[in-house]
Amino acid sequence: MNKVCFFDTKPYDKIYFDQMKEQYGVEIEYFETKLGPRTAFMAKGYEAVVAFVNDVIDKETIAILYENGVRILAMRSAGYNNIDFKAAFGKIHIVRVPAYSPYAVAEHAMALLLTLNRKIHRAYVRTREFNFSLHGLMGFDLHGKTVGVVGTGKIGRVFMDICKGFGLNILAYDPYPIKDSDIKYVSFEELCRESNIISLHCPLTKDTFHMINQNSIKQMKKGVYIVNTSRGALINTEDLLNAIIEEQIGGACLDVYEEETELFYEDMSYTIIHDDVLARLISMPNVIVTSHQAFFTKEALHNIAETTLQNLREFFDDKILTNEICYQCNRGKPCSRDKNNRCF
Ligand code: NAD
Repeated sequence: MNKVCFFDTKPYDKIYFDQMKEQYGVEIEYFETKLGPRTAFMAKGYEAVVAFVNDVIDKETIAILYENGVRILAMRSAGYNNIDFKAAFGKIHIVRVPAYSPYAVAEHAMALLLTLNRKIHRAYVRTREFNFSLHGLMGFDLHGKTVGVVGTGKIGRVFMDICKGFGLNILAYDPYPIKDSDIKYVSFEELCRESNIISLHCPLTKDTFHMINQNSIKQMKKGVYIVNTSRGALINTEDLLNAIIEEQIGGACLDVYEEETELFYEDMSYTIIHDDVLARLISMPNVIVTSHQAFFTKEALHNIAETTLQNLREFFDDKILTNEICYQCNRGKPCSRDKNNRCF
């Protein structure tokens, strides 16, 4: 049995990993704490560490993990913007779960949009109190409206398929468009100008950081809905809040938030929230926030556990690391993978 330690573990993570760990010859120690410079020492004695989206995997964390003998870090997520890849290169292999259920995330994006537009969350609360008034619950038909999809990867494409079923017209922006597809690609500027709804399905990179900001919002139609199930920092949240107050933005469906790290996945209901931007956003009648739960389906959790354990098994068996990623291959540049089957 190979020993592995997990950071930022919740009870629901354990269910699927515990079901499969023996089959993959892995013994797991679960830590509830997040991984970061102050907790990385806990990995002492483990060659393999498993982490999640809000762990802080910066230069300092990586140095401490490496000093303590860690040689592989397996992300149980698709996104990896919280990792300092340059610091990890040559020391710790990074693997991830590139796809576990694009349906989970795309369906959640549509669920948020339908909920906010048709005010289902408000109607639910009202009818529980026998308030059957319709005042304030009016939405709009999705049919015939235009949705702009930013990022036509796995999740973006499933989201577009769902949108087709609703009779939405679809525009897309992606710097790497799919060749010979029937997707109607336009520039980001045109997408902003023409869309009634904009849904973000691209990764967080230095090019996409704050792509929704004062300037791009100004180009959008008045009353546009923004859906973000990708990463919080795609949006400059203060600019979003101002545009909501000015009624330029008609609705925001947010599963992610740029300052979510210390808040999301925790019960903060007995705590004073010092983040005024988030508190103000949540108080808005036309904003719906979920706490990074778009991935959260049975199928996705099963697939995350299976691929993560498979990734670790490949490492322990000195095999090709199918889902390895480094700062070079991440940018389309050649890394040494071709020579020795691993990024370094
Ligand atoms: P993917 O890699 O299959 O697709 C991403 C697409 O974005 C690609 O087509 C890529 O070309 C495009 N892209 C790259 N740079 C871009 C840019 N500057 N502008 C527009 N598009 C750009 O990834 P995916 O599986 O579809 O996931 C998309 C994102 O969803 C992930 O990066 C992750 O941040 C997020 N995600 C969120 C959750 C959640 O629970 N909320 C779960 C999984 C993934």
